[in-house]
Amino acid sequence: MTSPTEELFREDALLAECEATVVGHTAEGLLLDRTVFYPQGGGQAGDSGELVAADGTRVAVADTRKSKEVPGAIAHVPAPDAPALPVGTRVTARIDRDKRRAHMRFHTTTHLLCALVPHPVDGCSITAGYARLDFHMTDPLDKEALTAGIARLVAEAHPVRHRWISEAELDANPQLVRSMSVQPPRGQGRIRVMEIEGVDLQPCGGTHVSNTAEIGHVVVTKIEKKSAQTRRVVLGFGS
Ligand SMILES: [Zn+2]
Repeated sequence: MTSPTEELFREDALLAECEATVVGHTAEGLLLDRTVFYPQGGGQAGDSGELVAADGTRVAVADTRKSKEVPGAIAHVPAPDAPALPVGTRVTARIDRDKRRAHMRFHTTTHLLCALVPHPVDGCSITAGYARLDFHMTDPLDKEALTAGIARLVAEAHPVRHRWISEAELDANPQLVRSMSVQPPRGQGRIRVMEIEGVDLQPCGGTHVSNTAEIGHVVVTKIEKKSAQTRRVVLGFGS
């Protein structure tokens, strides 16, 4: 029996490490009482990193997933041949900062794309190497114009912040829900909303930079016609 994991990354995406206690093991991975590791979800890849015990034992974490066995818990997927950490072990949980930083830069850029392309989103994938966002639309998109639009919003340095609103408030404002496939989680009474001041507002549980200026150089590398109704925008880091 374990309880839901305290999700420190929801309030502070800049937190790279925390002290935690091993509270359980499932076939999916190690469960901690609290964590800075973001589990794969909302299109964003899971974090990797390491758990280090006081005696120096190190467990490399290859990936992070929402536990299916224990609802509300986060499973830290150990790398193959990682040593065991018994329940009760105190650890320092530390994410791979460079990988997370890439996720945050790309993820925030997908919100800028939502503002630049006013069509519903029907798919999203964010990794450390690239990101892609699928729009439900039939019109063509211009790669250079979108890259220029992103560069402008980055240069304008808009603050990025989250707040929590009640589900009743969200239901009264259905235009907040932009995405067709990435719906906000329901049933917890409150929903996390990300605002890029003056640019975009939408429900999102992912991790973001705190100002669009921190995105740096991100470009549209490709636009694909995935189907008659879908245009895929692929993002990469500029050189
Ligand atoms: Zn987001």
